Amino acid sequence: MDTPFWNREIETAERSRIEQIQLQRLKTIVGWALRTPFYRKRLTQVGINAPQDIRRLQDLQRIPYTTKDDLRLNFPKGLLAVDMKEVLRIHSSSGTTGIPTVIYFARDDVDNWTDLLARSITGTGAVPGDVFQNMMTYGMFTGGLGLHYGAERVGMTVIPIGGGNTKRQIQTMKDFQTTVVHVTPSYLLHIHSRLGEDGIGRPDLALRKAFIGAEPHSENTRRKLEELLQIEAYNSYGLSELNGPGVAFECVCQKDMHVWEDAYIAEVINPHTGAVLKEGEEGELVLTNLVRRATPMLRYRTRDLAFLYPQGCDCGRTHRRLSRILGRTDDMLIINGVNVFPSQIEEKIMRIPEVATNYQIHVDKNGALDRLTVKVEIYPKLFLGEVAKLEALKQKIVDELRASIVISPLVELHEPGALPVSEGKAKRVVDDRPKD
Ligand code: AMP
Ligand code: ZN
Repeated sequence: MDTPFWNREIETAERSRIEQIQLQRLKTIVGWALRTPFYRKRLTQVGINAPQDIRRLQDLQRIPYTTKDDLRLNFPKGLLAVDMKEVLRIHSSSGTTGIPTVIYFARDDVDNWTDLLARSITGTGAVPGDVFQNMMTYGMFTGGLGLHYGAERVGMTVIPIGGGNTKRQIQTMKDFQTTVVHVTPSYLLHIHSRLGEDGIGRPDLALRKAFIGAEPHSENTRRKLEELLQIEAYNSYGLSELNGPGVAFECVCQKDMHVWEDAYIAEVINPHTGAVLKEGEEGELVLTNLVRRATPMLRYRTRDLAFLYPQGCDCGRTHRRLSRILGRTDDMLIINGVNVFPSQIEEKIMRIPEVATNYQIHVDKNGALDRLTVKVEIYPKLFLGEVAKLEALKQKIVDELRASIVISPLVELHEPGALPVSEGKAKRVVDDRPKD
């Protein structure tokens, strides 16, 4: 197989070399972590007071896990390791304006991240001169600027179109003969369903590859996209706490994603006991970022369920592969690529005085796209009121929710008693999306 490399030496380095790099970088990053109020406390509690206290890679296991709650509780600067003057950029997790998790990047952090993306992109066979249309949302979400910088570094022609506006996406793909897109799988399916509408069909496009990520999808969905659009689709995994995309990416073999192990230490743990599992066993992915000093991240519990392959890959890369994301250990929903926690919705609607106590969060598909409907019961007096007032209330709820979860849900108002009452533990979330 013809295998393209961005940095052959690192990508095919022997295990011992990778572990040597990991150890040396772990020491450095622990040094940076000790400069943050949060990690100083955490690390000194377990007897790690200086980088030298990390002697072997196994010493990583002395470090306690970091969770999303730690990030929230230490917002905004508890995990900042550098002077603000050194911070080049700030990103945050998708859909988290309600509960912020914020990540700072110094100049070399952005540079390291960009390099990982250039590596990832090159591994799929994309080359300078490819026309790259980035359909991921820009802004604080990492999917926009992350891939943007990586693609520029490779030397692709970048179209920073951002998310949404399907007509314009299709027209742009035609006008500039886009060859590679970065997109959520659900949005790419949606784009496919809209082809032909304005007289632009598949033969008018030059599309060859898609980088798909930000939301769970099955091998069947990938194959379906590949067949419908006659392209190659590559799975891309990342999360803002660990930079964003570029944590793990598929190579031309398309047999799941290489984790860039010179930049990340990946562990898989039993989500209930916290015990580290053996290679090949499924559990919660825990990641340590070795190449970002402004916001060090040690043993971050991703809440994503996956496993690591013990065996190598035909492409020759030695960095281990990560399976598809098989689920979550928490109740986070991913709606068209945007993370939404049911608690964010509850928090908002319960603050609206007209809303009674029962509500339901419903997710289904509208064509290829996810649709979020929030059903709320309101007080009887109000329910019998004027239609205009009800419309205004509905709009108010939509606005409040959009401000918190970034996406705009449908809102349905119901009279009291109309929504199912659950006995025992309330079942607030109904996810009717097909599991293929
Ligand atoms: P964010 O921090 O907003 O980038 O969201 C990161 C989360 O999106 C991850 O923890 C995963 O749950 C999900 N995610 C990202 N990429 C993928 C992917 N390729 N497959 C499945 N889930 C993904
Ligand atoms: Zn490979």
